[in-house]
Amino acid sequence: MSNKLHIVSLGCTKNLVDTEVMMGKLQNFELTDNQSEADVIIVNTCGFIDAAKQESINTVLNLHDARKEDSVLVMAGCLSERYKVELAKDMPEVDIFTGVGDYDKIDELLVEKKSRFSEAVYLIDGAERVVTGSTYHAYIKLSEGCNQTCSFCAIPSFKGKLNSRNLDSIAKEVEGLVAKGYWDFSFVSQDSSSFLRDQNVKDGLSLLIQRIELIEGVKSARILYLYPSTTTISLLKNIAKSEIFHNYFDMPIQHINNDMLRIMKRGFGKKDTLELLEYMKSLPNSFLRTSFIVGHPAETKEMFDEMCEFAATFGFDRINVFAYSDEETTSAHEMSEKIPAKTINKRAEILGSIALEAMQKSLKNEISKEVQIVIDGESEEHEYLLSAKELIWAPEIDGEIYVNDRTSDKELEFGKIYKAKITDMLGNILTATVDNA
Ligand code: SF4
Repeated sequence: MSNKLHIVSLGCTKNLVDTEVMMGKLQNFELTDNQSEADVIIVNTCGFIDAAKQESINTVLNLHDARKEDSVLVMAGCLSERYKVELAKDMPEVDIFTGVGDYDKIDELLVEKKSRFSEAVYLIDGAERVVTGSTYHAYIKLSEGCNQTCSFCAIPSFKGKLNSRNLDSIAKEVEGLVAKGYWDFSFVSQDSSSFLRDQNVKDGLSLLIQRIELIEGVKSARILYLYPSTTTISLLKNIAKSEIFHNYFDMPIQHINNDMLRIMKRGFGKKDTLELLEYMKSLPNSFLRTSFIVGHPAETKEMFDEMCEFAATFGFDRINVFAYSDEETTSAHEMSEKIPAKTINKRAEILGSIALEAMQKSLKNEISKEVQIVIDGESEEHEYLLSAKELIWAPEIDGEIYVNDRTSDKELEFGKIYKAKITDMLGNILTATVDNA
């Protein structure tokens, strides 16, 4: 009788890759969605900001309440790493604590039934992982850690300095996944445009593009988490030239006011940011995603209004809005000009509405267009609708398309690229007719 494993991955796509590495090590377990029958429960936590930390703790406590007597509860990941001392004291519910250094040793930890926090931050390099969530798409990690010093961010304090994978390791992983039928890849890290800069290579991403383009079977790819000060026009030109990499530009800018960008220690001002964004927008079929933080210490109403005006008018396709979270170990935490929580929430609400309008405008612009889509499966909405996404979009975060018609009776295949006409918009979801004649 095989042991049953219930595993939860919280936080970002980088964390998801680490969760998949753990699943790769535990393939002798049977996966279960039912936490009350699981022999082992693992939560890969997120420790980025308050909301994420609270979600991680609640998830662990809820699973503890639901679990069976003799099961083992493991708390892994960023929150566990960041607060290893406090959690060991405050969460007796947890049997095994581990951080961000032992994902590939999870099987040993379960045998030893002991907590472990290895010094080095784990970086995937050839480990077999169980890709989740898709039959054709996989996230590929470029590096761990970060050398930037953004005022509000605690990630470098528990993920350490930038540590890039080498190109061979990445190419080998992609080749291995292509052999398993995957053909669409999203390259992720904390700061992707700094890829290989820790190895004194200035244009690491351009080298990555060249290398991935040589791999037969890779049909589609995008890079997430570009950082303004290490993103160059020559990189953008190389992305635009690529047959494989989409003009998909995910660059969190966090603010647009010049003084606030300086206070946030972003190392990049308004003028240079605009130059990059304008160039991105000028490229054919470009898709722009960004993030803003509201309520950073010293943010005046004028600075906030400037950011709102910019977000509303620049033409972003997708905007993430974060309320400032006062994270210890960060330089912003030491600042005195804190913004009251009520004001932060009000600003997040205002910018959140602007972000929604920007997304709706971007979606509306797609109506009547012929685009490439991928069908992911049956939609949860209705049995006669199939769920799809535009090929350029990243999975899960950029939206869904309902396929409600096709040009022939031929069956539609899941995980396949089709030409389609965007016909309408229902709420925030597009509808499409697939051309499969
Ligand atoms: S780029 Fe800035 S926000 Fe992102 S992980 Fe690095 S320090 Fe944090």
